[in-house]
Amino acid sequence: MSDNGNNRTFPTAAFPTATKAVEIVPISHNLYEKRVKIQTRNVKGRFQRLRAYTGWFFLVLFFAAVWLQWGTRQAILWDLPTRKFYIFELTIWPQDLILLSGLLIISALSLFFVTIWLGRVWCGYLCPQTVWTNVFMWVERLCEGNRNQRIKMDNSPISVAKFFRRGSKHLLWLCFSFITAITFVGYFIPIRELFVQFWELQLTLTTLFWIALFTMATYLNAGWLREQVCIYMCPYARFQSAMYDPDTLVVTYDKDRGDKRGPRKKNQNPREIDLGDCVDCTVCVQVCPTGIDIRDGLQYECISCALCIDACNEVMAKIGYAPDLILYATEHEMAGTKTNNLRPRLAGYGLVIILMIMLFIGSLITRDTLALDVIRDRNQLFRITSENFIENSYTLKIMNKTQHQKTYSLMVSGLEGITLSGIKKLTLQPGEIRDLPIRLLLKHGLLKRKTEVISFHLLDTAEVDVSVVEESRFIGPLLFKEYNE
Ligand code: SF4
Ligand code: SF4
Repeated sequence: MSDNGNNRTFPTAAFPTATKAVEIVPISHNLYEKRVKIQTRNVKGRFQRLRAYTGWFFLVLFFAAVWLQWGTRQAILWDLPTRKFYIFELTIWPQDLILLSGLLIISALSLFFVTIWLGRVWCGYLCPQTVWTNVFMWVERLCEGNRNQRIKMDNSPISVAKFFRRGSKHLLWLCFSFITAITFVGYFIPIRELFVQFWELQLTLTTLFWIALFTMATYLNAGWLREQVCIYMCPYARFQSAMYDPDTLVVTYDKDRGDKRGPRKKNQNPREIDLGDCVDCTVCVQVCPTGIDIRDGLQYECISCALCIDACNEVMAKIGYAPDLILYATEHEMAGTKTNNLRPRLAGYGLVIILMIMLFIGSLITRDTLALDVIRDRNQLFRITSENFIENSYTLKIMNKTQHQKTYSLMVSGLEGITLSGIKKLTLQPGEIRDLPIRLLLKHGLLKRKTEVISFHLLDTAEVDVSVVEESRFIGPLLFKEYNE
């Protein structure tokens, strides 16, 4: 047996001979690494101020946008029962799914563009996982104290004080998770109705289920899983390294300046004692939310939060050294060459994004605000009336895709003498879909073939250029000559 030092044991005889009795040797593979709880140290600095601003921006946007009204309805609402997505004046119908796909593609391309250019700034500054985890960490500090106090509490036996502090932390986490969940559900069910239902204890089981699910998801992700979401669960962390190039801005430790590391007396010149600027205080590791040591080089766990930069700058200021031993820099910058911001990959992504945005705006402007579907009556192809008319029945599905009340006039063409029986003018409310049964009549002597193509015209009475034409068929008797005498 041999031991490779990783708690893995392997049999020394890989191919036992047939003459010997085979000894079954258990092979233990330690594939599961137990998570070591990360208790981060609090740090202040310019990048943390910036993160606080971006975090606040995101939180205010998320909690406030759901309350905005646009006319008589919620400004941003994904109305699942009617399958319509409202964003202020814009209504995205199921037929406009291509627009939504376009939006998603633009967002994904923008994320790729920013990653190539600035690394994982999205993760460090704006990702909801980061923003919510920061709020939860702030609550943790409030209830359980600073890093040392929290580590001490982790190792201490249960007591009244520990129970009270831990309990209040979890209670506050759950409250914030609940507020997050109800707000999120409010983007799908009008938030004002949701709150009334909540206070009157009239929430449906389905709504309760979704609120409970999102409460637990927020509580677990931001309270318990934290960096594990970024390291093991987020797919972006896995492929972002493939997007990096030597011109991507990343958090870097200046190895040439920092090594050789070691403690020294204050005001001692490190070069005289053969040391670099790193005093090996490990503060940069203690503040890292993913628990890595940036001095080991760029790692996929790094979310570009710059906590280590601020922490190290604090240390540098205390010992009177120049800042930026850990800094945002590109590989080329660190090697003393110029960063190329106009590189083909970045420019290519930029161009594609601009093109996609133009296409998106174009399709938005030119998309139909009126839709018409014609469905023939399938039970009866035609009917001969007592007045000797051939009658065909249809159901028209008319959609007013605008946010305004509209009046439309209906006409039919394609056959001389064809008449429309029933409503010829109708008014639809904003976003209304109306099923309209209609009948077409033709004196039977006027039909020359058993089936003819006809067209339905629906015109907006207020805007002449808004109209829609839909073709269908008018069917007569098979032995039409009999009727044409
Ligand atoms: S904080 Fe700066 S000085 Fe301290 S260990 Fe990290 S890199 Fe070295
Ligand atoms: S190494 Fe620095 S920038 Fe990267 S995650 Fe840790 S603290 Fe944030």
